[in-house]
Amino acid sequence: MNLRILRKAWRSRNGDQPSSAFSHNIIRLFSQLSSQSTPDAFGIAFDIDGVVLRSEAPIGGSPRAFRRLYDDSGNLRIPYVFLTNGGGISESKRALELSSLLGVKISPLQVLQGHTPFKQLVNRFENELIVAVGKGEPAAVMAEYGFKNVLSIDDYASCFDNIDPLAPYKKWITKQVADQSRAVAAKDLVLSQRVQAAFVVSDSVDWSRDIQVLCDILRTGGLPGRGIGHQPQLYFAHDDLAYQAAFPSERFGMGAFRIALESIFNRIHPHALEYTTFGKPNPFVFKNAELILKQLVLSLQDKVQVLNPANAGGHNFKTLYMIGDNPAVDINGARQAGHPWFSILTRTGVFKGKENHAEFPADLVVDTVEEAVDFVLRKECSS
Ligand SMILES: [Mg+2]
Repeated sequence: MNLRILRKAWRSRNGDQPSSAFSHNIIRLFSQLSSQSTPDAFGIAFDIDGVVLRSEAPIGGSPRAFRRLYDDSGNLRIPYVFLTNGGGISESKRALELSSLLGVKISPLQVLQGHTPFKQLVNRFENELIVAVGKGEPAAVMAEYGFKNVLSIDDYASCFDNIDPLAPYKKWITKQVADQSRAVAAKDLVLSQRVQAAFVVSDSVDWSRDIQVLCDILRTGGLPGRGIGHQPQLYFAHDDLAYQAAFPSERFGMGAFRIALESIFNRIHPHALEYTTFGKPNPFVFKNAELILKQLVLSLQDKVQVLNPANAGGHNFKTLYMIGDNPAVDINGARQAGHPWFSILTRTGVFKGKENHAEFPADLVVDTVEEAVDFVLRKECSS
């Protein structure tokens, strides 16, 4: 970092001339940072599943690796984010979970999940009826983003008698809406309003019911049981075919669910399914991560402030490291994003090969996330 960059960032926030207090802070900060190294010249994005955690268990020495990104007082010293396609809970809850599992202080700003970009669709669907699909709390996630008229597919399906003929054979219990007056109001709403969009927030728990109900919504223009209508919008948080969970071999992910839904929809509807997928390897996700890392750099400079992304434009990274386990997703994404991304592939998840991946070779292959962090810190902080 240099003083010029700091001044430039400050001007974009505050006008032309720094105040004396600001100048003092700048000089203090500059002297602190120049006495260390150049921690803002680089940043790190960590995938979670198969890199940092397997299911809910830390792997690859991740707690030790993350502690190295903080100073002795537990303050963040290296800008990093989690860049995961997973989700199903809000960024604030995920930050708390990760903090507890890894033993470090993680801010919600550092958690970028597959569904995080759905925030950008609030203006379009703020008051429209939308349905949220997936494990965890998909409707609560969307409500926290600002969508005011969202139902989980569980609550939505429960408004229609016999919409899932297999329900009586399913052993698990679907959560009932606790407040009965709310349930009646929801039912009236659902039976009178068309769904304008469906969001697959996280992995579907009940593929057969969800594919059935989504096809009902999508082929009828948003009102199950009616004639064929114009397809409402459909969004997926990501398109991962498989992911590494606790079982030794990979499990089907949202991309597999999308293929199943699309195949069936295209057999029953005259027009092919239209949809949008977010998540890695979409280069947009990496651009967004870069923007958030820029904000982090600025908030490291002034810990009390979380800054507007628009104000972070004055800072440029020399290198951004993507540490992931999935060549097609993490490495492919970093490669597509180009400069300043540098990809590091670990062997703790989807990828288990001895050499580099043939189709999507990483810039570096290591065994664990701890090795990856060691490489980055040696390269960036030892000179
Ligand atoms: Mg992964």
